[in-house]
Amino acid sequence: PAGLHLVATPIGNLSDITIRALEVLAAADIIACEDTRTSRVLLQRYGIQGRLVAYHEHNAASAGPKLIAAIADGQSVALISDAGTPLLSDPGYRLVDEAVEAGVSVVPIPGPSAALAALTASGLPTDAFFFAGFLPSKAKARADRLAELKSIPGSLIFYESPRRLPDCLSAMVETFGAERPASVCRELTKTFEEYRRGTLSDLSKHYEETGAPKGECVICVGPPLAEAAPEGEVLDALLRDLAGDMP
Ligand code: SAM
Repeated sequence: PAGLHLVATPIGNLSDITIRALEVLAAADIIACEDTRTSRVLLQRYGIQGRLVAYHEHNAASAGPKLIAAIADGQSVALISDAGTPLLSDPGYRLVDEAVEAGVSVVPIPGPSAALAALTASGLPTDAFFFAGFLPSKAKARADRLAELKSIPGSLIFYESPRRLPDCLSAMVETFGAERPASVCRELTKTFEEYRRGTLSDLSKHYEETGAPKGECVICVGPPLAEAAPEGEVLDALLRDLAGDMP
């Protein structure tokens, strides 16, 4: 059917694709992707020919309106990214905005995303969480952003390049404190998939020692720790003070 289909694709293991994703990709008139060579590998694996066109940050202004015009003309367009769910730290937001504006149908075909895969296996609370995407790479901007995120009452999810992981964890210890529970997961769904869980300080120490690891990674940080409850004497004094204020 005509419309813009946001199709999630694997984040490593090529078997992680839904039956519906394959059906939508096979039926699409146009498959818009970040890198046609990367996407060709996936499509070839499933015998999907598909007309691939590039859609990325640098050509969004010119490619977007053409895709919207094709949809308005009755064509089915599938948007995919190099890995996982499009729009999550990947191109597509602008295209969806334009499609909504043009009144054409926009439908997600859900599937893998590194953010949710990492959070669910992190051992951290999942009832409320904040997806923070990539942090700024410059130290000052990163520290400012971490300060903004510090008090959010939920788990935090970050994408990070392995090269910056040791610096990033030490900046987190600095702003969030050493004791917040956290996890680093690398190479999700791939052969060398690895989870490391501990306090921010444990993880920071580990990667200081080993240096930057290889592979893609996601950092999850647990919610702020509850302030320690006031102890007996302090509590008594507080209550006496309060009682003094009573009429
Ligand atoms: N759209 C993708 C998604 O839904 O997960 C994310 C794209 S973003 C450009 C790439 C980042 O996602 C990587 O730097 C890494 O932080 C994370 N990532 C993607 N695949 C991963 C994997 N297999 N294991 C760990 N992290 C991964």
